[in-house]
Order: sequence, then structure tokens, then C-alpha cells
Amino acid sequence: MDIFVNDRLVMKKQHPCGAKEMLVLRAGMDFRLRCVRCGREFLVPRLKIEKYIKQVIHQGNQGNQANQEGEPHV
Ligand SMILES: [Zn+2]
Repeated sequence: MDIFVNDRLVMKKQHPCGAKEMLVLRAGMDFRLRCVRCGREFLVPRLKIEKYIKQVIHQGNQGNQANQEGEPHV
């Protein structure tokens, strides 16, 4: 599963505040997530968080792979 900084994770289980989306502040062995609603931050091991992810929403626009739509004009 590919998860990057600034992605949003839709969780299967909601946070006590009612939000289901988490913003990724740091990705690696451990993930630092911030609840989009209450702003609380927490550190979760990757293996654990993957079980709770329902969907990953890619937000990052910088450093994108080139769009391969249409024909290149050279
Ligand atoms: Zn929350």
C-alpha cells in the first residue's frame, strides 16, 4: 500500500470525535497522523494502521508523475 505525506486516510473505524479522515504528517515505519476534525496527532505503527485503512486519498500535487494523457507535441 502506497501512502505518502499529505495523503488523507479514510479509516474503517472512526475517531472518538466522529471523523474518519486522517492526514498523514509522516510516513515510514511509523505513521504520524492528524485527525482532520479535532486536530489530535498520534503515532501509529504501519502494520497496525494498514488494518484500519479503508481508502487512501492522494493529496500531494508536487512531484507528480508526468501525465501521459494525449500525444506529446515535440
Ligand atoms: Zn478526532
